[in-house]
Amino acid sequence: MSTKKQWKPVIQGFDHLLHGGDYNPDQWLHEPQVIEEDFRLMPMAGYNIVSIGIFSWVHLEPEEGKYTFGWLDDIMDRVAKAGMKAALATPSGAKPVWMSEKYPEIRRVTPTGEGLYLLREPTGFRHNHCFTSPVYRDKVAAINGRLAKRYAKHPALGMWHLSNEYGGECHCSYCLEAFRAWLKRKYGTLDALNLAWWGSFWSHTITDWSQIQATDWSVDGMKLDWRRFVSHQTTDFMRHEIAAVRKYTPQVPVTTNMMGTYHRLDYSVLADHVDVIANDSYPNYGDQEDLWRQAGWISFNHDVERGLRHGQPFIQMECSPSSTNWAQYSQLKRPGIHRMEALAAVAHGAEGVMYFQWRKGLGGAEKHHGAVVDHVGNAETRVFHDVAEVGAILNKLQPVRGSIVESEVAIIHDWNARWALEFTAGPGAPSDRNCCDVSCSHYRSFWKRGINTDIIRPDEELSRYKLVVAPMLYLVNEGMAARLRMFVENGGTLVMTYLSAVVGDTNHCHRGGWPGAGLRELFGIWAEEMDHLTEKDAQTIKARVGNSLGLKGAFKAHTFCDLIHEEGAEVVATYANQFYKDMPAITVKKHGKGQAVYIGAKTDEDFLDAFYGALAPKLGIHPAVSGKIPEGVLVRTRTDGETTWTFVLNFRRTPQTVELGKGRRRDMITGKAVGESLRLQGYGSVVLTSRER
Ligand SMILES: [Zn+2]
Repeated sequence: MSTKKQWKPVIQGFDHLLHGGDYNPDQWLHEPQVIEEDFRLMPMAGYNIVSIGIFSWVHLEPEEGKYTFGWLDDIMDRVAKAGMKAALATPSGAKPVWMSEKYPEIRRVTPTGEGLYLLREPTGFRHNHCFTSPVYRDKVAAINGRLAKRYAKHPALGMWHLSNEYGGECHCSYCLEAFRAWLKRKYGTLDALNLAWWGSFWSHTITDWSQIQATDWSVDGMKLDWRRFVSHQTTDFMRHEIAAVRKYTPQVPVTTNMMGTYHRLDYSVLADHVDVIANDSYPNYGDQEDLWRQAGWISFNHDVERGLRHGQPFIQMECSPSSTNWAQYSQLKRPGIHRMEALAAVAHGAEGVMYFQWRKGLGGAEKHHGAVVDHVGNAETRVFHDVAEVGAILNKLQPVRGSIVESEVAIIHDWNARWALEFTAGPGAPSDRNCCDVSCSHYRSFWKRGINTDIIRPDEELSRYKLVVAPMLYLVNEGMAARLRMFVENGGTLVMTYLSAVVGDTNHCHRGGWPGAGLRELFGIWAEEMDHLTEKDAQTIKARVGNSLGLKGAFKAHTFCDLIHEEGAEVVATYANQFYKDMPAITVKKHGKGQAVYIGAKTDEDFLDAFYGALAPKLGIHPAVSGKIPEGVLVRTRTDGETTWTFVLNFRRTPQTVELGKGRRRDMITGKAVGESLRLQGYGSVVLTSRER
């Protein structure tokens, strides 16, 4: 019996790793020969999909109620004739000037200055519409419905690309009314709301629902609820868009392009309503010695996106084939980097690689942003050749499509926990409380070791993991605490750090000491206080000889140090300085079949490397290769249960050798057999295949 595990293609009947990207023929309708040339060049670049119409509203509806689909009919026909698919966009990401001027209510109202003054935005820019405005919703439903009805049976229609990079917020009267209604549903009474928002403080008690604004940032419970509401309302708007296209095209998948760990929206809320996750990724890779550190951050983001739909592969919807125009430095991608960046996305579960943008416009805000076709207008450029090479490689990697990323390690990433910590006054500066930075530090320890890692939603099933890490998981409610306890009881190892389980759902501090929500007993410790150190303060943690985690040595600690009392836990390491010298800094407590580890201090990555370097082998967590992986090399695997594909990518400009260990492998790109040792060129990338049975 086959044990093959494979996700279905995103587009039914179109079983390909996707390669293509944003295509803006509406910028060239005055030069039809350019469009002719586009369709001559796209097959040469190995394109099989284009995202069309993302900002095309004015060309689809130049006047109110007057629709002009002729140009799009022609483009869709050309796409189909070329054997490609269209990710057809709904155009809500940028509204036409006529609409914005005729219906000012669709323009966003934004806090300005200290956030206490509200201003209706002028016409212009993009991504600045109100998500609640009945007029805007009517207009969006009308254009979406017409697009869906017109192209429902068109062979080019592959998927719906909803709007573009949903984001931001609006404080107009419609949005405030919706916020108040959302709060009424959540809390029922003003008494409950005032208690949740701790309204007695500074006389902030609300006595009428109409008094509720969303600009008083001193009310931290309100800030947390406002972010949740914005995620809800954005999702509600997206669902409104989806309903308009589903009416005519129920079988066509919908997606929207997200932006990694974008902090203003809880993407897990949106993720439940799309058919596939799509992500935009713009690393600014130049030629730095520590490029791999940024690569680790990009990997972290890829794993976040894959985790949003519980391991389902995602689409890399946008990246630049060359430089970006908005970064501080518009560095060119060195030879090999574009291919490596594309393969890194696939290694983490991407079902294809798409670009913003196909052709550089001659004008407009993004005329200097990287594109497959530069202003020179032909295929004879380094970037075009790089893109064509990736297209050819993706064809060779077709067997990887639909395979899964299997991980034994998971890191919990929760927008609610990030917001709760971010919207709290202290401890210390907000920059010291950046959850994603800390999570990525833990993540890099696995990245360097070639260990697949999932970044999971807080509601994810934990039982399939050997190790779950919760770095700075500030908000933990009773339900989450119970699931963590269950995970440990059943044999899992849980690692949690300082600034975890401090507050519950309303951003109120847990009573009874930290870690709260009943986790004090699970970890067998009580963190009585937390010291926030300046850069001049010195602290060191020292491992106790013979500790059960196998940790050895002394390490610098800084920024945050919990003052811990052990209440049944084994002390793994203690502090060496300050008045809390010899108090526990790291502890472990056996519980059920598993164990709960607490890291009480912020450290550098050398500590995390030593810590996970000792822990991972003890837990039977195996890296992708048995030999040594040099610094800067990423090794990740995908599998379909029968075949494993190993991606080996060198994010260093100098050649490096990876010891793969025993086994027979083949380079999928060159077709050559590979032995136990793999020599990678600077910025070299290889995909190996090995059959397991
Ligand atoms: Zn609004």
